[in-house]
Amino acid sequence: MSFREDGYAAVDWAAEYLERVADLPVLAQVKPGDLSAKLPAAPPEQGESFADVLRDVDELIVPALTNWQHPRFFAYFAVTASEPGILAELIAATLNQVAITWRASPASTELELRTVDWVRQLLGLPDGWHGHIEDTASTSTLAALIAARHVTGRSVVVCSEHAHSSVDKAARMLGMELRKVPADEELRMRVDDELRLDDVAAVVPTVGTTSFASVDPVRKLAERAHAAGAWVHVDAAYAGPSWILEEERWSADGVELADSLVVNPHKWLLVPMDCSLLWTSRPDDFRQAFSLVPEYLRTPEDAFALSEYGPALGRRFRSLKLWTVLRCYGRDGLQRILREHIRLANLFADWVDAAQDWELVAPQRFSLVVFRYNGSDQQNETLLERVNASGELFISHTRLHDRYVLRLAIGNARTTEDDVRRAWEVLRREAKRV
Ligand code: PLP
Repeated sequence: MSFREDGYAAVDWAAEYLERVADLPVLAQVKPGDLSAKLPAAPPEQGESFADVLRDVDELIVPALTNWQHPRFFAYFAVTASEPGILAELIAATLNQVAITWRASPASTELELRTVDWVRQLLGLPDGWHGHIEDTASTSTLAALIAARHVTGRSVVVCSEHAHSSVDKAARMLGMELRKVPADEELRMRVDDELRLDDVAAVVPTVGTTSFASVDPVRKLAERAHAAGAWVHVDAAYAGPSWILEEERWSADGVELADSLVVNPHKWLLVPMDCSLLWTSRPDDFRQAFSLVPEYLRTPEDAFALSEYGPALGRRFRSLKLWTVLRCYGRDGLQRILREHIRLANLFADWVDAAQDWELVAPQRFSLVVFRYNGSDQQNETLLERVNASGELFISHTRLHDRYVLRLAIGNARTTEDDVRRAWEVLRREAKRV
């Protein structure tokens, strides 16, 4: 086995995959169990060559992939694993840092603090916030609610009816009560006199909801929450990266009042899965909630261990890919890509708006378009299934006021205007057949 030769083959494979991904179906064209039927039930007794593995990646794995790197992946929130991020993952795996304490990985600890602070500056967030990296927004929100419960001694979480299910899940895992507040006509959490927060541990406004990309009134909610002694955790997992653009900063109004904030570079900042940033304006409270240093991890240095700010002890070198992406694109490169995504979403929304048989169903925000064909729910559902089965694009759905609606999210750096135009053509073609 030659690491160098296998490595070149792996990089060649990765480069070729990225060159041909646009020609593959976006949604995996397999049925449940198809891959399982082809995989040996028992592990190999003798080691095989890396070349054999690579061959099986082509023959078995690729046909069972939904290709998230495809330029016409428009479902959920589309993402990009950029080339610099991919290469940084190779180096991070090579170094295999396990950053349990500063001593265990000075580089990982200090690079993480610095790169997360770079993102804070790029997004225009307040000075002095402490940020670290978690795997996903689900973990970041779980950690924030743990801190909120610890600090307030309360056990109620409040969010909008359109908050992401990770808030429900975190509350459930923590045995906290979840109160969902109805949204207004612009799909923002309602803040009126009936909203009681006296017994609330945390209020979780969302900037960029999953279904509609709507934006809760963060400032108003934060003022009310703080007056009632509650913690404010802002979920900007998807839309937070857009604050790199001055023209999108309107949606950050009031975020400076947050006690904690989650933003996912693995959603819309070109960093490969996984990388979720969790900032807090109250680092001492966070540390109190999480710090637990057993004898075998005590070290003489008076240095920082990021494991004292969240659930995990062993921490991956995630900052390496974030650092690499920030350096290879710079503010300017990232701005250009996000701005283009928003332009393409607006263009698609204009086409939908101008078409007789189609309608936009939510205010246009960021890079997500929520729309439907003027037909029954069943027709829209059939349309979605037909479009996705074509392999030409992949979109997803949600429900609004009990109607089935379609979502087209732009977030892949390879997506061009031609891809969006093709998506619109396929949608209209299939709509004629439902
Ligand atoms: N919050 C919002 C607004 C989201 O859209 C999502 C996922 O799409 C999440 C949280 C959960 O993200 P993760 O998959 O990183 O846990």
